[in-house]
Amino acid sequence: MAATTGNTIKETLVIIGSGPAGWSSATYAARAQLKPLVFEGAITEKNRMAGTLPLGQLALTSEVENYAGFPHGNLGAFLDSALPAERRQMMAPHAGEGVTGPELMELMRQQAVNMGTRIVTDDILKVDFSKRPFKLYPSEGGVVEAECVIVATGASANWLGLPSEEKFKNRGVSACAVCDGALPRFRNKPIVVVGGGDSAVEEATYLTKFASKVHLVHRRDELRASKIMAQRAHDDPKIEIHFNTGLAEVLGDDAKGVTGVRLASTIDAGKETTLEATGVFLAIGHTPNTAFLDGQLELNPKKYIVWTKHFRTETSVEGVFAAGDVADDYYRQAISAAGTGCMSALDAERWLAAQGTH
Ligand code: NAP
Repeated sequence: MAATTGNTIKETLVIIGSGPAGWSSATYAARAQLKPLVFEGAITEKNRMAGTLPLGQLALTSEVENYAGFPHGNLGAFLDSALPAERRQMMAPHAGEGVTGPELMELMRQQAVNMGTRIVTDDILKVDFSKRPFKLYPSEGGVVEAECVIVATGASANWLGLPSEEKFKNRGVSACAVCDGALPRFRNKPIVVVGGGDSAVEEATYLTKFASKVHLVHRRDELRASKIMAQRAHDDPKIEIHFNTGLAEVLGDDAKGVTGVRLASTIDAGKETTLEATGVFLAIGHTPNTAFLDGQLELNPKKYIVWTKHFRTETSVEGVFAAGDVADDYYRQAISAAGTGCMSALDAERWLAAQGTH
């Protein structure tokens, strides 16, 4: 692995971020002989709590059934053959037949490494995009000078911050219905969704395919979701909306994971109810990981990076590209992130060639 401590290092292309966008970008860039250096993020408690550990949001999910190319099969043997033993040993044993989020991410990382990608397990805390070469400041010290940068730092699901929510993450608590909703633990059982926006309604509607009932818990007396989506929630016999209600605690135990919730009225102090549920889905918005950019790239009002050209990954600073959820608050899928990762590497390669750098 590359190291930066105390040094100034000079690079052609630096990719910041290690989700599907970052690795797909790195695979393409390495294959194009750009020798990319990936900052995959630091392994710290702070990043764990913020959901920004290396390998991104997918590493926080369980089974992934909708990533093209990964049907059920003998994945245990495949993982053993594709991954180095030292990283394989750090992972949970392959439990089922479908690929899991962490497994998929390890495979993407390995593919990028196989092509010649170098990796630093550290965060970039600060950037200077005011002139080229761009300067990047890793948390461990030193400076990285880069001709070209791809930002693929993703977004993090917002959480309420309850200790019980943290305790049952991946054991019934999730922030992604499309990722986790079809798992056996949610089949024909009641489920709780928290939030009142389009995402919450979409997740609740999606979950009715599997759950016996979906309780939509919203803190106000009307949904924020668009009219048509809100109507869909009201009309669905499997969805019960609990207005003026907040999630006070996720209930459960070590053996079963989530078994229910304690809800508290937001208008009637002290009024509480409990519900049985095997799952709790948070849909209270996402926050793109753009704070470290400190306003140096144009962001939209929701703080996502703006792609300045239609169907291109260019940003407001020439030579800086963006890929994945950090620039996408609409699709937010692993496969669309990987797609824009590929696009960003091709855009970077062409731009570097035009500069005479590659
Ligand atoms: P959102 O519109 O910001 O809604 C977030 C919801 O979470 C709001 O109802 C909010 O309550 C609630 N919330 C926020 N913080 C909370 C907290 N601490 N405790 C309890 N509740 C909390 O986010 P979103 O639903 O993810 O949508 C994001 C964007 O994507 C929107 O522009 C949306 O239209 C779009 N989107 C579109 C579709 C679609 O068209 N199919 C699907 C998904 C998302 P309040 O209402 O009280 O603020």
